[in-house]
Amino acid sequence: MLNPNPLFDRTGSTLGIMDDLQVAVHTYDGCARGCPGCVVDKHFKNNWRFRNIIPAPDMSLIHSRVTEYYDWIKENVNTQEKGYFGKNGFTIDHFSYTFRFGNHSELPPEALDEIAESMPAEYRVFSTAPTEEIVKFVDLRKRHPGNYYLEIIYDPVADKAEDLRDMILEMRRHNILGYPEVLITRRLLDAFTPERFVDVAVGPLGEIGTQMQFGRYTPSKTRGYRMSQTVHIDEEVEWLAEVARLIVKRQYNIHPIPIGEYAVTFLDEYGEHVALNHNGYLDLEKLPEPEPFDMRNVMRKTRDIFLSSLYVDHNLDLHVWSESMGQHVLDRNFGFEPLGNIRDQSIQNLVTEKGGVMDRMLQEVLRNLVSHPKCGGCRYKSFCASHAIPLFRKWQDDDGKHCYGYLPVIREFQKSTPFLGNMIDGFKELGF
Ligand code: SF4
Repeated sequence: MLNPNPLFDRTGSTLGIMDDLQVAVHTYDGCARGCPGCVVDKHFKNNWRFRNIIPAPDMSLIHSRVTEYYDWIKENVNTQEKGYFGKNGFTIDHFSYTFRFGNHSELPPEALDEIAESMPAEYRVFSTAPTEEIVKFVDLRKRHPGNYYLEIIYDPVADKAEDLRDMILEMRRHNILGYPEVLITRRLLDAFTPERFVDVAVGPLGEIGTQMQFGRYTPSKTRGYRMSQTVHIDEEVEWLAEVARLIVKRQYNIHPIPIGEYAVTFLDEYGEHVALNHNGYLDLEKLPEPEPFDMRNVMRKTRDIFLSSLYVDHNLDLHVWSESMGQHVLDRNFGFEPLGNIRDQSIQNLVTEKGGVMDRMLQEVLRNLVSHPKCGGCRYKSFCASHAIPLFRKWQDDDGKHCYGYLPVIREFQKSTPFLGNMIDGFKELGF
């Protein structure tokens, strides 16, 4: 899949490249807000405000499991002959923690210290609501040096883009990076046409070169399995495609993830740049022949992606964290059983168990893609395998005009190579 003649030079950029063992941990669920797509657990939200969910000895146990697993990855996965990772592919060169899901900025400094001390890492990401309490992370970083990032849950119905911009600029002054995350809900689409969204919710951020993450709303236990915020994929794709068109047209210095990344992956890893017309449109007739669908190969690569994105919940149950639209953790909240509990077993034992949960998930993903009427003959099956498509299909089949591959949105971003090149440069400062 590594293209010897890529369109883009991605030296020093991590866009569309997995080189990190990402471990999300369920550290905090408190938050004063009530965003429509929120995944925080009401029990913890109401009963565990201003304190960590996981006791310090358990956080230390998580860390010892993760470091042991990272060593195992370096010895066994980075050295394999075939797969996404290995001698002939990418390698995992570090690990990071992402502390989720609540507003960590409201934790007292001692609680943040406990997290940083128990789970030290070169890269730390904290979820937060828009906040003026950046100083907490600035001071935390002084006490526990490293690279800090904030995932800022941004609800354009309630928050002002100007405030987000000021927050991000203030963070940068203190060497803390971060980006807003927008969940695509019924309420968002009712409140914003694509034009209004781009003008009001993106425009003020459009000059500061920030990532902006878009995520699909998915019903879950914490949301009472409510479908009321679900947007049909056809409507979502058309709304997002128009948003993408306008962002590119206005040449905003903004990096929409993950969907802008997909545009680069298709152009380079899938060699689609040979089909670009001078006007930037992709001539679908000129697309290169798709690689033959090699089930074992796709299974191997998808497994590698799953191995590098994991989630540990408050019980120390281990789950896969999917690289999907919105980066969903595939836990009980979304109807997925854990791979096992890391109190009793090492992570490497759980992920390699023959016939275990990981194996069954992989088989289910592949079976779903191969047998779905839309995917069976589609050239992008190998790409979609790692993006948790079956998760979304649990709730709503994409049996209309569009599919969970979001192709029309990707095509809009593919039209501007300067826009994508700028995005690639923007990823250089991230470092992971
Ligand atoms: S979800 Fe869409 S793009 Fe992905 S394999 Fe299926 S039909 Fe193709």
